[in-house]
Amino acid sequence: MKYAQIAVNAPTAWPRSFTYAIPSNFHVFIGSAVWVPFGKRLLQGIVLNLTDQSPVEETKPIAEVIDSHPFLSEAQVELAGWISRHYLSPLFESAALMLPPGFERRVLTFIEALPNTSAEAIDVLTPMQKKIYDFLLTSGRLDVRELKKQVPQKQIEITVNQLTRKGLILKTTELERARISPKFKDYVTLSIDSQKAYEEASRLLAARKAPKQADLLKFLMEAGEPVPIARAKQNAKCSDGVIKALVDDGLIQKAKIGKTTTLKVISERASEALNNLRGEKGDKQWGEVLLLLNKSTKPLTTSEVRAKSGAPLTVIQEMEEKGWVSIEHIRLTRDPLTHRTFSAASPPKLTPDQESAWSQISRSLQKEPGAPSVFLLHGITGSGKTEIYLRALEQTIALGKKAIVLVPEIALTPQTVDRFASRFPDRVAVIHSKLSPGEQFDEWQRIREGEFDVVIGSRSALFVPQPDLGLIVIDEEHEWTYKQHDKTPLYHARDAALKLAELVGAVVILGSATPDLESYHRAKKGDYRLLELPNRVGEFHKGAFPSLPQVEIIDLRQELKSRNRSIFSRKLTRAINSALDLHEQVILFLNRRGTASFVQCRDCGHVMRCRRCEITLTHHESENSLICHQCNYRIPPPTTCPECWSRRIKFLGIGTQKVEEETAKAFPRARLLRWDRDVTQGKYSHEEILKKFQDHQADILIGTQMVAKGLDIPLVTLVGVVNADVSLHLPHFSAGERTFQLLSQVAGRAGRGRRAGQVIIQTYSPGHYAILAAARQDYNAFYEQEIIFRQQYGNPPFNRLASLVYAHTNAKRCQEEAEKMANSLREERDSQGLANAAILGPVPAYIQRLRGRYRWQVMVRSPDPLAILSRITIGQGWTADIDPAGMG
Ligand code: ADP
Ligand code: ZN
Ligand code: ZN
Repeated sequence: MKYAQIAVNAPTAWPRSFTYAIPSNFHVFIGSAVWVPFGKRLLQGIVLNLTDQSPVEETKPIAEVIDSHPFLSEAQVELAGWISRHYLSPLFESAALMLPPGFERRVLTFIEALPNTSAEAIDVLTPMQKKIYDFLLTSGRLDVRELKKQVPQKQIEITVNQLTRKGLILKTTELERARISPKFKDYVTLSIDSQKAYEEASRLLAARKAPKQADLLKFLMEAGEPVPIARAKQNAKCSDGVIKALVDDGLIQKAKIGKTTTLKVISERASEALNNLRGEKGDKQWGEVLLLLNKSTKPLTTSEVRAKSGAPLTVIQEMEEKGWVSIEHIRLTRDPLTHRTFSAASPPKLTPDQESAWSQISRSLQKEPGAPSVFLLHGITGSGKTEIYLRALEQTIALGKKAIVLVPEIALTPQTVDRFASRFPDRVAVIHSKLSPGEQFDEWQRIREGEFDVVIGSRSALFVPQPDLGLIVIDEEHEWTYKQHDKTPLYHARDAALKLAELVGAVVILGSATPDLESYHRAKKGDYRLLELPNRVGEFHKGAFPSLPQVEIIDLRQELKSRNRSIFSRKLTRAINSALDLHEQVILFLNRRGTASFVQCRDCGHVMRCRRCEITLTHHESENSLICHQCNYRIPPPTTCPECWSRRIKFLGIGTQKVEEETAKAFPRARLLRWDRDVTQGKYSHEEILKKFQDHQADILIGTQMVAKGLDIPLVTLVGVVNADVSLHLPHFSAGERTFQLLSQVAGRAGRGRRAGQVIIQTYSPGHYAILAAARQDYNAFYEQEIIFRQQYGNPPFNRLASLVYAHTNAKRCQEEAEKMANSLREERDSQGLANAAILGPVPAYIQRLRGRYRWQVMVRSPDPLAILSRITIGQGWTADIDPAGMG
């Protein structure tokens, strides 16, 4: 007997797998999706392993194999296991990342009558109950929805429940079968040659339709002898005109027999003519179909043929029976790129910097012994990183392998896609969240069949079934969107990619202008090979042009001293006005959406921080206190600045909407466009807003993170950062890194066209190293400072963090539960003697209340938080986030 270890789609099953017996006639592989009995239900499962022996005595057999071809490769099954362990997520959920899109099913409820019940039980039933029970006895097991259709009664649900309680019927639930299956269509093609089709079509279409003539001719043919004209007219119910037409055609003849005028058939063409005259209902339609198919340059579907020819399906089928056409059942692929055509672009000659980076990657792709397998390609925007990716893809393909390219969702614009697709026409698949489920499913199938050399997509594209994976490229590897934050598993695509590459022996290229601090640290340590592209390609090719934009830092404290209370400094106001004068475009950037909740002195720029953790304190209005989100240190909000005794100590916070209002007031002549998540969730897509701005339908674009990315608009000569401090003082250890990344990105965007660019950064903290380094686009300066702080406070990469958030509608209960958790974590730490592990909290989460639930947080900070977390029970209501990217 063979057994399978199976990850079952049941919430109670976490984090275990279950053993099932494999019936001897089933073909089950590692990675197969199956149906298994689980309690009273039939659930989906993924086969993780096959064994000859079962660790448990009694096993149920697998009920059904969902697809004969396993859905997951063995490497993917291992990756699922790693994700489950690493992110504390259920095994099935982790494996489900790699299932075809649309695989999740709805739960269906089935009911069946239980026979052999005592007569007394039946006797006491109401007529309605009896009716349903009897119906179910005869119908057998039935979907509730089906029952409702067949027995249209209002009370049916109630009655079913009553019968269930009485033990007369049994309710079971199952997951719905595949919602999306490959879409097939019937294509019609000609079975006769084109010349014949043309002749037949002409003949059929030329056929006159004269039913009256036909009736008369038929009558006369059948009579076989001259018929008196009056009788013929009466029988065929026709007029003199009809007779004349047939006579003129030479088909019949008038003859006097005695006194009576008679009609008789005289032509041998009569029977052929009869067919034509009759205009056999199908004739014209047959002709149209033939003509249509003969003209068409591509196969047409039956529905296209029907729509264009006017012929019903029965006619097409009849034509198939007669051997004129054939109907083929073909799987239809919904290819999202079909509407565009690409011509292959040829690669440029590499610059010396690119050449040296490329030669190292090339050696790894060719599996030269000792060559590294992970590269960190560090280069500012425009330094030619993408060109290196393209080379690496080309070589991967030449070596008979395939690749996956990950880009941040926001960068998944037609521009990016075109750039890849134009180098490898027809060999690129794009996984985009905007694809319909059907399109996603088709792409998945085609990828599995090895149709694409390159798959491009955002984080989830890592999990496509790309065979022979030889290369994974992660562009903008520092992006926080690579971390899944809105649903479990809370995986990081970069870390999962590194694991997958290790499992299949693929090369990884991480690319960024501002690498994640941890990635850079690892590269410096030698875990990754660091490749630097310090210059823009243009500088090498065209002398000093285009150059980096001029970046200026404006001290907002000085503005206040000069009695300027506007959100625009005098310098920024002048710059905006002069850009408007020259019909140039401006971007106003807010490095965080919505309001911030820190306290800052507007005279000296001092920000209230935790004495113990150096983290910015967050103002909580409900409790009127400033709270540290790491250690729960609390103080009342100060009325004067502890540094300079100024009373202008303010709660800052400004959103895009407010900036828009202020801009409209200050620059009434400018046409404004706002771009943030609130807007793009509504009517306009990113592309539409971008297009509008590109077409110069607006002068000033106001937005958050989004405007910083993927923008290459020649007319933009000025970028204003309204208040850099908003992200700088987020209560998170990586607030500085985040600010540096955003500002560098913005600074790198201006002036990419013909005209020189200018960036103005407004801040109350003009001396902050993150702002200074970003203004100079000096990654190393930032890194050297930041890494010292990280080490000082024991933050990543020197430790790892795990955040546990508990949510509950009752505030007190929530806090108590968090305290219990913190205690058990401390106990576990102490029992393992892990002196270097810190348990932080419990504290109210940064987002203190969400959808009516209070939220409390506990953090583990240690070299290996899983050593503690994997030993404790994380119950209902808790969310564990390993290596959290944001604030809980
Ligand atoms: P990055 O990805 O670092 O932003 P790109 O690869 O997009 O940089 O390069 C910036 C621009 O320079 C692009 O327009 C690209 O086509 C061009 N480019 C890159 N490498 C070369 C090269 N070796 N010769 C000429 N142009 C190049
Ligand atoms: Zn002050
Ligand atoms: Zn603190």
